[in-house]
Amino acid sequence: MSPTPGSSVLPKVKISSRGVARLKSGHVWVYRSDIVSAEGISAGSVVVVSDQRGKSLGTAFYSSSSQIAIRMLSREAAADFPALLRQRIADAIAYRETILGGADRNTNGYRLIFSEADFLPGLIVDRYNDILSLQVLTQVMDADLVRETVISELAEHLDPASIVERVDPRVRELETLPPRSSVLLQGTKTSTIFTMNGVQFHFDVLEGQKTGAFLDQRENYAATAQYAHGEALDVFCYQGGFALHLAARCSQVTGVDSSRPALEVADQNAALNGREIEWIEANAFDLLKDYAASNRRYDTIVLDPPAFAKTKRDLDSALRGYKELNLRALKMLRPGGILVTCSCSYHVSQANFLEMLAAAALDAHRSLRLVEVRGQAKDHPILLNVPETAYLKCVIGSVSH
Ligand code: SAH
Repeated sequence: MSPTPGSSVLPKVKISSRGVARLKSGHVWVYRSDIVSAEGISAGSVVVVSDQRGKSLGTAFYSSSSQIAIRMLSREAAADFPALLRQRIADAIAYRETILGGADRNTNGYRLIFSEADFLPGLIVDRYNDILSLQVLTQVMDADLVRETVISELAEHLDPASIVERVDPRVRELETLPPRSSVLLQGTKTSTIFTMNGVQFHFDVLEGQKTGAFLDQRENYAATAQYAHGEALDVFCYQGGFALHLAARCSQVTGVDSSRPALEVADQNAALNGREIEWIEANAFDLLKDYAASNRRYDTIVLDPPAFAKTKRDLDSALRGYKELNLRALKMLRPGGILVTCSCSYHVSQANFLEMLAAAALDAHRSLRLVEVRGQAKDHPILLNVPETAYLKCVIGSVSH
């Protein structure tokens, strides 16, 4: 990485007036098409961003390969980058103490650092009790000196038993970073048990998806548990996040997922909490089709599929996928039944999602009342003016007849 983070003379990147307008609107990204000059700037440099006349707009991370060429770090000249990094990490940790605070002693699994929303572009850190799980998504965050600073700051504040890095090979490829494996960066502990809303979960440093669990759904689990009743079906259940919360309220719970390893952990999680849950390994689309055709009925159904729209171009096909799932689930719900339906695709807006749901209810000949329209847990902050930081939708509805 060049120049060394912390050096006071930073290279300059000039951006177009469209790029300037984007920053003035409060966004923190500048696309490659709005770069006017960045000659000789090495991959993963910390740079000064300026308009075409040379007026400085602040300090940013430069990526040589991503379409998002610039991610703003500060609207000011950040002379001492490592010091700023340390401050931002300390602030993110303090923010979690404020928003989660002592109010929720039943939770020790949550997101500590959420990239742009914590003013640390390309760094994600999740806490699973005494183990921290870290992801690096940008060239600057991958530099050795940056990694060392991040790890030492995290260790100082939280004193974790270990810190693991979970690598997303696709992101490294996009950022043209050399391949790396997921490994422990500090400590030797490889598994632990963490709690969300008082429910216990296994965490293994090198297994599972994302950084380990879907922590963004934590508050939606608790909300769902308020209304769930009777016979419940958790579709796309992964390691049982919703199912385990449903089990406290429902007479019978079934979880469905296509991943056997996920279901194995789900079963261990059920045992850990003394719950009996039926797990079915199946393609959710096929299973819902069969169940709907054979007139199966439920009182509570959760739908939490993977992101169907990875890009804007996928929007229409994603909405068709969501509609099919929701239509079948609505048909299977008894009057008074609860539908909990989610989308983690940023490209599907809340308005798109509600419109899809309204159309599904119409086609299913069901009246659906909105109980709650929710988003991601507050430890995954939404930064106003950076719409990409808001991605999760969770709608809880009640079927009247
Ligand atoms: N509800 C979960 C998270 C779900 S993530 C929680 O709260 O933890 C999406 C899940 O969908 C993953 O576990 C993945 O294995 C599963 N999945 C993806 N495609 C599927 C399909 N066609 N049928 C069933 N499960 C699928």
